[in-house]
Amino acid sequence: VPLDRIRNFSIIAHIDHGKSTLADRLIQRTGGLTDREMSAQVLDNMDIEKERGITIKAQTVRLDYKAKDGKDYVLNLMDTPGHVDFAYEVSRSLAACEGALLVVDAAQGVEAQTLANVYQSIEHDHEIVPVINKIDLPAAEPDKVKAEIEDIIGLPADDAVLASAKAGIGIDEILEAIVARIPAPKGDPAAPLKAMLVDSWYDPYLGVVILIRVVEGTIRKGQQIKFMQADTVHLVDRVGCFRPKIEQLGEMGPGEIGFITAQIKEVSQTAVGDTITDAKKPTAAPLPGFKEVQPVVFCGLFPVDAADFEKLRESLYKLRLNDASFSFEAESSAALGFGFRCGFLGLLHLEIIQERLTREYDLDLITTAPSVVYRLHLSHSKTEDAKVIELHNPADMPDPNRIDMIEEPWIEATIYVPDEYLGSLLKLCQDRRGIQKNLTYVGGRAQITYELPLNEVVFDFYDRLKSISRGYASFDYHQIGYREGDLVKMSIMVNGEPVDALSMIVHRGAAEARGRHMCERLKDLIPRHLFKIPVQAAIGGKVIARETIAAMRKDVTAKCYGGDATRKRKLLEKQKEGKKRMREYGNVNIPQEAFIAALRMG
Ligand code: GDP
Ligand code: MG
Repeated sequence: VPLDRIRNFSIIAHIDHGKSTLADRLIQRTGGLTDREMSAQVLDNMDIEKERGITIKAQTVRLDYKAKDGKDYVLNLMDTPGHVDFAYEVSRSLAACEGALLVVDAAQGVEAQTLANVYQSIEHDHEIVPVINKIDLPAAEPDKVKAEIEDIIGLPADDAVLASAKAGIGIDEILEAIVARIPAPKGDPAAPLKAMLVDSWYDPYLGVVILIRVVEGTIRKGQQIKFMQADTVHLVDRVGCFRPKIEQLGEMGPGEIGFITAQIKEVSQTAVGDTITDAKKPTAAPLPGFKEVQPVVFCGLFPVDAADFEKLRESLYKLRLNDASFSFEAESSAALGFGFRCGFLGLLHLEIIQERLTREYDLDLITTAPSVVYRLHLSHSKTEDAKVIELHNPADMPDPNRIDMIEEPWIEATIYVPDEYLGSLLKLCQDRRGIQKNLTYVGGRAQITYELPLNEVVFDFYDRLKSISRGYASFDYHQIGYREGDLVKMSIMVNGEPVDALSMIVHRGAAEARGRHMCERLKDLIPRHLFKIPVQAAIGGKVIARETIAAMRKDVTAKCYGGDATRKRKLLEKQKEGKKRMREYGNVNIPQEAFIAALRMG
């Protein structure tokens, strides 16, 4: 394809502003799909994506478009993941494009996610075409939204396209704007091959499918290629594109986006952002911007039924075939038995994997408190030199006497919130050790920038933010590095024995409140036994909070006040059923629900 006939673009939008609907509409208008095939949203292909309305994996579609100038164009639409957890993938997808459609809901206006994505897009020197979507809604205020785009984002919005993806309004205008305003790619077809690995996934028929953007040179079937970061060589056995149905191509030149397969078995061999070159005639230097993705949030996953351990291992292994960004290794816990320590890109990523294990693999799981990665500076001991280690599991915390300093990861968060909820929101950020960096008003909304420790955010920050603002606040963040923190390991002891699954790293200032809260919770959650049970929170050997669960009388049915026999029987059955789901700890039976409930800090 001649370079001047190619346009590569992505769509950036806040969740629910209509990205997927518009993508489908563009595919339909350019003939990629029939009306019947359109019935299911094409670009969101996983159940969880559909339900949550977010895109987890990037997809791309090649559209053939005959423009009003009479010429035929190839438009590559790159869909990007829609969540902060996948920011690096987003950055690689954006790097594969020359422009972007900025879709803003005509009734909702500019939101935090829109901003974060648009700034990234600007960083990639994209030509940005604003599209004001949902103009069919009675609540649509396109002029107000135009003004927001200019004031908040600083982009000219005079020539924004007014559209309704749902009603099919403005679609031709959008296609024409893509051709006219987004620059054609550059590149030399005769140069040594240089292509970016944008994404990869496992397909049961094709093996690992690799989405690429050719920057220089040409890639063709039968070619020996080299992955420069991974330092591996493969033989290309397919070159093709998605329309969205698969179509094989003989070769791809500069500016083109499509896929290759090369008999690769696992996605872990294909790092997003890697540079693909010709093995025999390699390019001089790899593309800039490569980053190895590292999990940032860790937790333990344990099967409720110990017999499911092998099934859990197999399921994790299968999920990892398609997602190299999460990690797992076996661990054992006195409270929960055998399970796995898993690492994720963020909480949403954790939830997605957990949900898929539950839903697709039918596993009943317990998740331990999510933890971020701490850096411990250890002083030298008799046997070891001073060193810095990464701590992924509070249970592995070394003797505090050996720790010189603990560092924790910090984030910068951007929050948009309507005025009326601002006060409670500031309090939430303050309670979480936040440092306010900026506060500005835009329309009836406040835009706040805060620096926050990641460990204060991973538990329930997002839920709290949503409930405080009745869903109106939006939140976006990125990591800004490690800082020293006054952090301690808090252990929870039931009947004098530490319950490792409940131990967590907390800020010293918050430890007592957290500990008290946890003990109160557990007091309500752990059923009474025949003896008194102390529930304690402790730092080192020092108890900082304590509750006591009173002993109970022997006859559980006593509280039925005699009489009703069926009720008595039901109660006993229920108790029996409950037993199955309990773990014994220091002679105390703790129901699984108690672990989960205790970990949901309120
Ligand atoms: P995404 O999260 O940005 O991919 O948003 P979707 O494309 O999934 O759309 C979110 C919701 O908005 C869906 O219920 C769509 O049917 C609806 N929607 C999308 N475009 C329009 C539009 O132009 N007008 C109206 N009224 N609704 C729309
Ligand atoms: Mg979508």
